[in-house]
Amino acid sequence: MGGTFDPIHFAHLFIAQTALDRLELNKIIFIPTGKPPHKQERLITDSYNRIDMLNLATKSNPKFEISSIEINREKTSYTIDTIKELQLYYGKDTDIYFITGTDAFIDIESWKEYKELLSIAKFIVMTRQVLNSELLDEKIELFIKEYGANITKIEIPTLDISSTDIRRRIREGNSIKYLLPESVEKYILKNRLYID
Ligand code: ATP
Ligand code: MG
Repeated sequence: MGGTFDPIHFAHLFIAQTALDRLELNKIIFIPTGKPPHKQERLITDSYNRIDMLNLATKSNPKFEISSIEINREKTSYTIDTIKELQLYYGKDTDIYFITGTDAFIDIESWKEYKELLSIAKFIVMTRQVLNSELLDEKIELFIKEYGANITKIEIPTLDISSTDIRRRIREGNSIKYLLPESVEKYILKNRLYID
């Protein structure tokens, strides 16, 4: 599961656990992005802070891991490169799924080498306050037909939580309680993240 995780919140953890349960996966690897190609307009929090928060949020779950593979990359992070690296590392006998929310997935045609990506990687797409669910379903149909894509859409109750909203609340002096783990909340306050 890729993301900026700036910061990680309960919706991230919930969709990871839901994917794990529904598809009976062995584990979830959270892969914080290094330099996200579509988020260059905003300064991303230092990767070590984002990793610290991921560690705090996931440490009680033995099936949740964190990988620095995108962070360690000098260049911009692209999902296709990450998937290829993981496939090489885990070998042919391992099924690897890329987990995203529908908001991220609906833009997949703007991702690097998306056609190849759709043909080599399996996807788990979790519903998020839907945009245009008909368009999404049409796209999924098309990707399956055209590129032999393997896409599992999972409907979840809408969780109106986003890192953007959490950052905004902090800037505006509002509480972020119950939107993310308490350990992460404390870390944010202690390190004075997101205050300006
Ligand atoms: P930002 O507001 O900074 O974009 P975010 O909350 O969208 O942050 P990301 O790190 O961008 O978090 O998301 C990582 C992945 O988790 C993406 O695939 C995204 O679609 C998914 N995701 C995040 N929040 C939710 C949510 N509330 N419901 C479903 N999917 C979510
Ligand atoms: Mg996002």
